[in-house]
Amino acid sequence: MEDNTAYSGADLLIDALQANGINNMYGIVGIPVTDFARLAEIKGMKFYGFRREDAAVDAAAGAGFITGKPGVALTVSAPGFLNGLTALAQATENSFPLIMISGSSSRHIIDMGRGDYEGIDQYNLAKPFCKAAYRVDRAQDMGLAVARAVRTAVSGRPGGVYLDLPAATISDTATKAEANIFEPVEPALAQYPSDAAINRAVSLLKNAKHPAIIIGKGAAYARSENELRELVDKTNIPFLPMSMAKGVIPDNSVHTAASARSFTLSNADVIMLVGARLNWMLSNGEAPLFNPNTKFIQIEIDATEFDSNRKIDAPLQGDIKSVLEKLVPAAEKAGVKAPQDWLDQVKAESDKNNAKFAKIIEASHKSDTLGYFGAITPINEILQEHPDTYIVSEGANALDDGRNLVGMNLPRHRLDTGSWGVMGVALGYGIAAAVETGRPVIAIEGDSGFGFDGMEVETICRYNLPITIVIINNGGIYNGDRNPVKDQLGPTVLSHSARYEEIAKAFGGNGYRVNNYAEMKKALDEAYASKKPTVIDAQIPVSMGKESGHIGNLNPELDLDPA
Ligand code: ADP
Ligand code: MG
Repeated sequence: MEDNTAYSGADLLIDALQANGINNMYGIVGIPVTDFARLAEIKGMKFYGFRREDAAVDAAAGAGFITGKPGVALTVSAPGFLNGLTALAQATENSFPLIMISGSSSRHIIDMGRGDYEGIDQYNLAKPFCKAAYRVDRAQDMGLAVARAVRTAVSGRPGGVYLDLPAATISDTATKAEANIFEPVEPALAQYPSDAAINRAVSLLKNAKHPAIIIGKGAAYARSENELRELVDKTNIPFLPMSMAKGVIPDNSVHTAASARSFTLSNADVIMLVGARLNWMLSNGEAPLFNPNTKFIQIEIDATEFDSNRKIDAPLQGDIKSVLEKLVPAAEKAGVKAPQDWLDQVKAESDKNNAKFAKIIEASHKSDTLGYFGAITPINEILQEHPDTYIVSEGANALDDGRNLVGMNLPRHRLDTGSWGVMGVALGYGIAAAVETGRPVIAIEGDSGFGFDGMEVETICRYNLPITIVIINNGGIYNGDRNPVKDQLGPTVLSHSARYEEIAKAFGGNGYRVNNYAEMKKALDEAYASKKPTVIDAQIPVSMGKESGHIGNLNPELDLDPA
């Protein structure tokens, strides 16, 4: 029998999300979306309530990266929307698929500038910060709205989509037939490059004396780990993972050149970029990191990315999995092999650097004073034993040292500050990882980085998620002992005496404060085994930590002692 029931826009929106396999929503409720969230729960969705919208939207974006389906976030109008907008922009910058839904106020009041409760023109404001914005003015458009949002978020270069949900549409009604709810067919269509493009790339690889591969988070997102592992196993070409691409090929692979990064990049004659942009993280492709004569191959879904920083000699447009499906057999057939003398050079350089590192690590385990290495190596020890553990991270030195010291052996298990290097993302990502996978999460945080999303500890405790937050506390941004004016707290100074572990206890979690490697290891092992929300305050000296971590070169330097 035909269902002639008039369903609310809210009801139909939930049906459309569920029809697209979306069952989790991250957000903060208030006018006009509170009942919408309640109804979503009643209809079987899970709603995860946050303390700040940006963390909720980050969580949805993280869910998108981990699952390959757009994560969904919900906010209230104006201020809630604006708080979420930063994270919508970040998701788009990171190429993470996300749908941010915000309730909005009355069009006729906003458009006439009459002053509505939390009323601004959200639909138009969102546009520059996402792939597309859609406003749903009628309940009957819900099916189309969600189908469009899903396809837009995951097709081509993935990114954020904004859905504007006016209060009037939430209570507007339509029948199911009118709402036309469907799942788009193959929302991210396979895209193969031509044979000519493949041959161009293979010929460069075949003739390379010093080939290298840079793997970016696009390759992680594209689930191309099997193809990439096959490629390096067959060709022996050394690879370098970008931060969130760690684990696409295991960090403990014999083919990694991670310990000889600058040597490999500056001496390579052919570099293949796989889902990595030549942006600021790769010195925009410039010297001294890269040789001006190096030839580039790039596997990338968005053709406007090619030549954005320097000439791409063999562009391969398509989705990474499909491109590699053609490239790997073609390279094998052509007999592509990295020359042994190049591999020997990379290995010699790696061995030298690894030996240096091993000494510092050993010293950090014996020292009475805790430092970054002593605080972070126990995390690595856990990851080697339990590779299916998620790492999220933010900070400067905590982020940099954590990236180097924690080996990842599974893809999409590391989420961090991303393409903009922003703070305030890690706990949202961590919550998403725990919710979407049920696996344990370790957050590696600077004390400053933690401040941007620290209230989400309450969220983590409320849902009893298996997340251990390690705060490496040097009492400052970068470090905590620089006061340019005598008897005045400097701009980078935070409370070194803060007892961050007490925050967890306040919400029913566990807390530890540690002062050396042995204490850190014991606390972390206990926290990990307990599967309970835990904060570990790792006390390191205020003097430790480099200004801006590894990217101090981006600081304009001023004369702070003017005559
Ligand atoms: P990283 O910071 O790890 O270097 P980037 O975010 O700079 O990574 O680059 C990721 C790139 O991957 C983006 O240019 C994006 O367009 C691309 N990308 C994302 N998904 C796919 C896919 N399925 N196939 C091909 N390219 C993709
Ligand atoms: Mg700090």
